[in-house]
Amino acid sequence: MILPGKTIGILGGGQLGRMLAIAARRMGYRVATFDPTCDCPAGQVADLEINAPYDDLDAARRFAQRADIVTFEFENVPAETLAAIEKLRPVQPSPFVLQTTRNRLLEKRFLQQHGFPVADFQEVRSLSDLGAAVAALGVPCVLKTAAFGYDGKGQVRIDSPDNLDAIWRQWCGESAAPVGVVERFIRFEREISLIVALTASGQLRCFDVFENEHRRHILDTTIVPADIPPELAGKATELAAGIARRIGLVGLLCVEMFVEADGSLIVNELAPRPHNSGHVTVDAAVTSQFEQHLRAVCGLPLGETALFKPAAMANLLGDLWQHKEPDWSAALADPRVKLHLYGKHQARPGRKMGHLTAVADSTREARQIVVEARRRLIEA
Ligand code: ATP
Ligand code: MG
Repeated sequence: MILPGKTIGILGGGQLGRMLAIAARRMGYRVATFDPTCDCPAGQVADLEINAPYDDLDAARRFAQRADIVTFEFENVPAETLAAIEKLRPVQPSPFVLQTTRNRLLEKRFLQQHGFPVADFQEVRSLSDLGAAVAALGVPCVLKTAAFGYDGKGQVRIDSPDNLDAIWRQWCGESAAPVGVVERFIRFEREISLIVALTASGQLRCFDVFENEHRRHILDTTIVPADIPPELAGKATELAAGIARRIGLVGLLCVEMFVEADGSLIVNELAPRPHNSGHVTVDAAVTSQFEQHLRAVCGLPLGETALFKPAAMANLLGDLWQHKEPDWSAALADPRVKLHLYGKHQARPGRKMGHLTAVADSTREARQIVVEARRRLIEA
């Protein structure tokens, strides 16, 4: 058990690390972060910030030595770095969980092998593979990079079997040996996510089901609880718990799913860490996803996941900064709105800069509160 007073090492210094660090400090832990960029979102609230490229093994060892346990908020840390850290300190979730979930092909194969539902897919490494995959899966389908994808980056929807060579050339870009996955396009009724925590001693707890709306492949709003029948919520929860157990999770796992019109569930992807859709738990649940992640990796008993009230979250992307600084006081004029900003120095279109949350008597009302507050940010 890693008790308060000890130091949590966080690999990656983005907003997930920042909110994890805040939760850790609230519980009396010390925090060390590792990120290439100085004054990163997590570094701003940590006790110690180590800045070095992720492949700097000496820096990684220095970081590990300052921590009692190491966890991550960023999946794409090189395997050698992880191995060097693991020699010195426990890493949770385990490098196996990390390596499986950060590669779309390994992740899908893992899910398929264990009987969890995924969209039909094929591996592609060449234009001729792409042709064969599109012929086998039909259109529409989606071509995705196997590694390093986030917020829809590295994805193209394919609507016709013609002109695949142009699509392939553009998708490859500079990459000489690209590995991709083509998957069937799912005409989902809605998208949901499940966030489940599992401890080394086998205690498991899951939050209510989150319902997510994406815009341009980036999460736009979340409501919780999802607007689905209780039986379906139960089925989704069982599915997420089954995956967490099967993969040998210690920590937090987010399972993104598509819900089809007939109520079938398809697993889209996994993330072994706090997730954007769970941000709303900070203001709306007894235990936040960040505290839950810490409790799980530190071997403490898990916290209650119940919501105080229905809630909603709206992401704030860099686009809102296009003309001038957003009007924070206009958004906060509604006293029910909570503002979360990540301390990023540069606002770029599509970059996640912060989010708004609200709780209310219904998810509909909560969603309306945050969406209207977001609109007021750029109105004047
Ligand atoms: P993130 O890490 O932010 O979740 P990502 O780059 O890993 O993003 P995905 O989750 O694979 O991307 O896809 C982003 C969004 O694109 C999905 O949430 C969904 O809205 C849409 N999408 C992806 N794959 C499919 C599919 N096969 N059928 C229909 N829609 C899809
Ligand atoms: Mg996703």
